[in-house]
Amino acid sequence: MKILLQSPRDEHDAWRAALTAALPDATIVTWPDTLTEPDYALVFKPPAELFARTRPTRAIFNLGAGVDALLGVPTLPEGTPVIRLEDAGMAAPMAEYVTLAVLGAYRESREYAAQQREGRWQPRPRLPKSQFGIGILGFGLLGQAVAATLAPLAFPVRGWSAARKEVPGVESFAGLSELRPFLASSCVLVCLLPSTRETRNLLDKASLSHLPRGAHLVNVARGDIVVDGDLVALLDEGHLAGATLDVFRDEPLPSTHPFWHHPKITLTPHTSAVTVIEDSVAQIAAKIRRLERGEPVTGVVDRSRGY
Ligand code: NDP
Repeated sequence: MKILLQSPRDEHDAWRAALTAALPDATIVTWPDTLTEPDYALVFKPPAELFARTRPTRAIFNLGAGVDALLGVPTLPEGTPVIRLEDAGMAAPMAEYVTLAVLGAYRESREYAAQQREGRWQPRPRLPKSQFGIGILGFGLLGQAVAATLAPLAFPVRGWSAARKEVPGVESFAGLSELRPFLASSCVLVCLLPSTRETRNLLDKASLSHLPRGAHLVNVARGDIVVDGDLVALLDEGHLAGATLDVFRDEPLPSTHPFWHHPKITLTPHTSAVTVIEDSVAQIAAKIRRLERGEPVTGVVDRSRGY
């Protein structure tokens, strides 16, 4: 079996070592060396040149959960299945990140930090938890893992997805027709949608205005789902109380971008849940073994939907 590996440059050795250990019989070639027709390719934001020089025949594995960058590569071969990472060690850190942001919003940590800087002793009234709804926009693998972590904290949790879900203890909203009531009940909106034709720019002034006054946005999905200027305007007007952002339209976030120094924004450099090499390789190797036996695998991307 022949495998082409193209991983983030500074991680080539670690990916290669893990893959060699998991599939000792495979011939592994590391990009920019290449193979004309490998059985499998493992790629991360590949350059267009990669698929111009190589045609994987059995499957292309994306070394991340989101496939927006890969599906945007103009040379991506049409017939070869694209398979994404499913959790692979990312759900737990994602749930930690979101829980920190949710608790910070509920306990008003930004406001108390500001009061401390001003030397001001002023207890603030707090909403009963039962009225502090958490809306998870994109209720897939990661969204459901976040919900499972928040549920024991007794926040009312709601999920929004394309198809309705049956998850105990979580109210499910589905499709655009139910977006407005979903937003209206979300004191914290957690974005865990894939970036697709349908979701890009979804969180603009019109939709974010349906959140209750004083709501928070947590975006851990993709930067292009949010319209940056509209978010800043709603924070400045006071309709939104805060935003926690891990992902941006341009990464690294340009030094002149208004998000950097906005008093109501907390930001991190796309670190909410990074790819875990060992877990990812174990998952991919298990899927390759299934494919080799002619068995189906999960995580195959539906290119018409874009995720
Ligand atoms: P999943 O595919 O499991 O979940 C995606 C969810 O979004 C599904 O519930 C899906 O609905 C829903 N959805 C997609 N399109 C629409 C739409 N048009 N309307 C309504 N709902 C929609 O993905 P994951 O949970 O694994 O990952 C989610 C995203 O998180 C990734 O695509 C990636 O961009 C991002 N991510 C970010 C990371 C970071 O470090 N910040 C790390 C990992 C992922 P349905 O279930 O009905 O299909």
